[in-house]
Amino acid sequence: ASDSGAAIVDESVETTDGRHVEVAANVGRQAELEPAADRGADGVGLYRTEFLFLDREAPPSEDEQYEAVREALDTFPDGRVVVRTLDIGGDKRIPYLDLPEEENPFLGERGIRRSLDPDSDLFATQLRALLRAAADGAGDLAIMFPLVATVEELDAALAALDAAAADLEGREDEAADPEVGVMIETPSAAFMAEELAARVDFLSIGTNDLTQYVMAADRENERVGDLHDPTHPGVLRAIHRTVTAAHAEDAWVGMCGEMAGDPDLTELLVGLGLDELSMSAVTIPEVKTAISETEYSAASERADRARLAATRSDVHTTLDT
Ligand code: PEP
Ligand code: MG
Repeated sequence: ASDSGAAIVDESVETTDGRHVEVAANVGRQAELEPAADRGADGVGLYRTEFLFLDREAPPSEDEQYEAVREALDTFPDGRVVVRTLDIGGDKRIPYLDLPEEENPFLGERGIRRSLDPDSDLFATQLRALLRAAADGAGDLAIMFPLVATVEELDAALAALDAAAADLEGREDEAADPEVGVMIETPSAAFMAEELAARVDFLSIGTNDLTQYVMAADRENERVGDLHDPTHPGVLRAIHRTVTAAHAEDAWVGMCGEMAGDPDLTELLVGLGLDELSMSAVTIPEVKTAISETEYSAASERADRARLAATRSDVHTTLDT
């Protein structure tokens, strides 16, 4: 049994009425890979590549990034490993990159915006490393872009990926064709989810940032902690429309914000139609147990009532009855 008392479930799980939900781990350090596998993760739903850039004086080389991602894939030879491209700016800073000071960093050059900077080759290097890792050996790599707000950004990121693949031609025996996805972390991305989903294989909802931007409440400021809560109906409606849009475009949709790892919200998230939940490894056993005890059809009706509630307290009344 795990610390939480829930038994570790190695197999994949489904609801009592047979709906499969993937349960994956969020990984922010290489040392978290093995513990995630031990806790029963089906794969990695969010591999935060920022940590490869921390505690050093220069960016990691293409080969170093390749090796790190290969290790993740080798840890989950039968699972999917979703690698997020570099997500810096906002709360995530890397001293040697010497990024300009911004008055309002959370509304500044974060995530994909920074990767698309034409004066930097960090993105091209990273994409080559990922494509090489996807082409070699075991495991199933997927590439995910953070903090996308527009279709133009996604198109530019996809063009960069094509260019990286073209760079590798002749260097690799096997062409890699990894799944590609977009994080839904901005209100614009939630509103544009149909067009985004039509261009990729999956969406993954980052509720930490999505809540911050939907509610205009800093994710780090306790004074607005009550507002930074993904169970506000405004956030639930953004999640619902993202899931509906993804499914209409035959894309799968996951969630990798903190909300995904709260076992008290598992029934709600299954009911909202998420296909995958990714979380820090410690809560995986509890969430897997909660999924296996959920009846999807009932959860779906309850989730509809919850998102149509007027207040957060009505949402919680709905969830508790
Ligand atoms: C999120 O914003 O929900 C997310 C998963 O990304 P991060 O917490 O790394 O910003
Ligand atoms: Mg985020």
